[in-house]
Amino acid sequence: MEQRVYKAKKFNLSGLTGISDKTLEMHFALYEGYVKNTNLLTEKLLEMSRNKKASAANPAFSEIKRHLGFEYGGMVLHEYYFGNLAPKGKGNPSVDLKRALEESFGSFEAWKADFVAVGSMRGVGWSILYQDPVTNLLSNHWIELHDVGVPSGFKPVLVMDVWEHAFLLDYKPSDRSKYIEAFCANVNWDAVNHYFASTAAVRPAA
Ligand code: FE
Repeated sequence: MEQRVYKAKKFNLSGLTGISDKTLEMHFALYEGYVKNTNLLTEKLLEMSRNKKASAANPAFSEIKRHLGFEYGGMVLHEYYFGNLAPKGKGNPSVDLKRALEESFGSFEAWKADFVAVGSMRGVGWSILYQDPVTNLLSNHWIELHDVGVPSGFKPVLVMDVWEHAFLLDYKPSDRSKYIEAFCANVNWDAVNHYFASTAAVRPAA
């Protein structure tokens, strides 16, 4: 079986409001690490499979298998995160997205307050707006490690990284709210509208 190799995407985000180019540069390097490790672990697992070492009795197999979800999740979530940002923001929530947020949360403002509250929770993680493709309902989720707490089959619509590396060069850890404010000012609503309107999960274009 031929191995599929992931390639790190390039995102041109220079000039974000309140999120420095230095932070972006460091963050892109972290993202590239997830891509590299996803490829590396996938290759190792295929090799184990070919060599009949893919067995629960092999601790290395179990460890790598468990770890793959973390690396893969880190890669994909960062692509959504960078993909839903644009310098000074872009576009506005579509009429359909606004209606869906109102149906799920009562109002756009109530959704946003909830999204921000999730992103302000103690610990490092992600605040993610997901869409249930069956009911079309939208919900905000706290994802701590990239592979823990992910609602199966749900589609990411808006992804905010609140690991400290996302803002530590620009703000103190206690000033996460300022980073969240900056994130909100840079949302690429054109991209978010696209993810929302797609019938299947769409990986962001670089
Ligand atoms: Fe990150």
